[in-house]
Amino acid sequence: MTQENYNAYQTAQKQFDDVADLVNLNQSAREILREPSREFHFTIPVKMDDGTTKVFKGYRIQHNDARGPAKGGIRFDPNETVDTIRALSMWMTWKTAVVDIPLGGGKGGIVCDPRTLSDAEQERLCRGYIRQLVKNIGELNDVPAPDVMSNAQHMLWMLDEYETIKGARYPGAITGKPVGMGGSLGRTEATGYGVIYTLREALKTLNIDITETTASIQGFGNVAEYAARLYSAMGGKILTISTWDNQDKKAYTYRNPNGIDVDQLVLIKDKFGTIDKEKAVSMGYELLDGDAWLEQEVDILLPAALENQITAEKFPLINQSVKVICEGANGPTSTEADQLIKDRGIYLVPDFLCNAGGVTCSYFEQVQSNMNYFWDKEEVLDKLDTKMTAAFHAVHELAEEKQLYMRDAAYVIAIDRVANAVKQRGWI
Ligand code: GLU
Repeated sequence: MTQENYNAYQTAQKQFDDVADLVNLNQSAREILREPSREFHFTIPVKMDDGTTKVFKGYRIQHNDARGPAKGGIRFDPNETVDTIRALSMWMTWKTAVVDIPLGGGKGGIVCDPRTLSDAEQERLCRGYIRQLVKNIGELNDVPAPDVMSNAQHMLWMLDEYETIKGARYPGAITGKPVGMGGSLGRTEATGYGVIYTLREALKTLNIDITETTASIQGFGNVAEYAARLYSAMGGKILTISTWDNQDKKAYTYRNPNGIDVDQLVLIKDKFGTIDKEKAVSMGYELLDGDAWLEQEVDILLPAALENQITAEKFPLINQSVKVICEGANGPTSTEADQLIKDRGIYLVPDFLCNAGGVTCSYFEQVQSNMNYFWDKEEVLDKLDTKMTAAFHAVHELAEEKQLYMRDAAYVIAIDRVANAVKQRGWI
């Protein structure tokens, strides 16, 4: 599938169908799980600062809530499509199931580019989104969170609108809130750290010492930043980071053969991950093509940007030195590239396992919000590590035992849990 005709929903359904075949899933379970159970499509009129009204398109898709309230982020993306959100909502169901937290899967999106909106416009957009959805979300049915280009401030505006309409406080209704306003310590770091907890365990099972490894990262948003920080802290060396340049509307790869100093690079990026090229070059970074992150002679590739980045066309670029791919992003690998990864014997930590740290910490945030008692950061991160490590080993052991590709093993566990919940509820 090329970039132009790529459809994330088809990818998600194909992955599901293949494993449904593998485990001989019964027909009614297939039908209920291969598409979302509920979708909301709506318009959001927003008064712009210049006095005009702009109408944005919004979506919230609840794939499955048999194991608990639907859970998942809200993306702000000018190229958003319904099918992408459908796919992402499915992946959320598998994600909450594979780490075994009592939640389902959902995803939302607004077709917009927050980089071009003022703070006041973004606030009105967030509030408008909630006004359209207020009857259909909440701590007992569907709990939003941040995602691509949305952040803690957006979540707080959304929660404030929700609570204002409801006339009471519902701190468990939205996660990813700012710390001190119902947010959990560690939530900002959680997805990226979770990626590295699974990488650490993967390297252990492969008998590779993390301090002797090198990595190349795609993306420099929240997930990539914290993954990069923890990987460096554990002694790994990052050679390249590739990120989107919003001025040039293309990606660049930043390379430092002596290893990237993440703290230093963070200082010259904006909040969406665009790095200041001139400053980077003056600091000694080599500026390479956007895809160059794939070609580096490294042990680990860490795609932590968007879907469909490792495709069959791009796969040959991947250096023979690569031993592990850790999917920090949702859906970064096409189904055709999966086959090539399998054939080359690269160890894959699949997305909905690898990046489950965010939603796991969101679950901790809900628990803390509902108790109105907050844990210290160490406690949050300890619990996160325990959950991620256990989930990783369950998948790894199944993959070993049944000689499965890691993605398929993760699916087998997740589908089994969700199918059981659906069955126990008497839906099938
Ligand atoms: N957006 C994150 C994800 O894709 C977190 C979702 C959540 O916390 O609900 O997993």
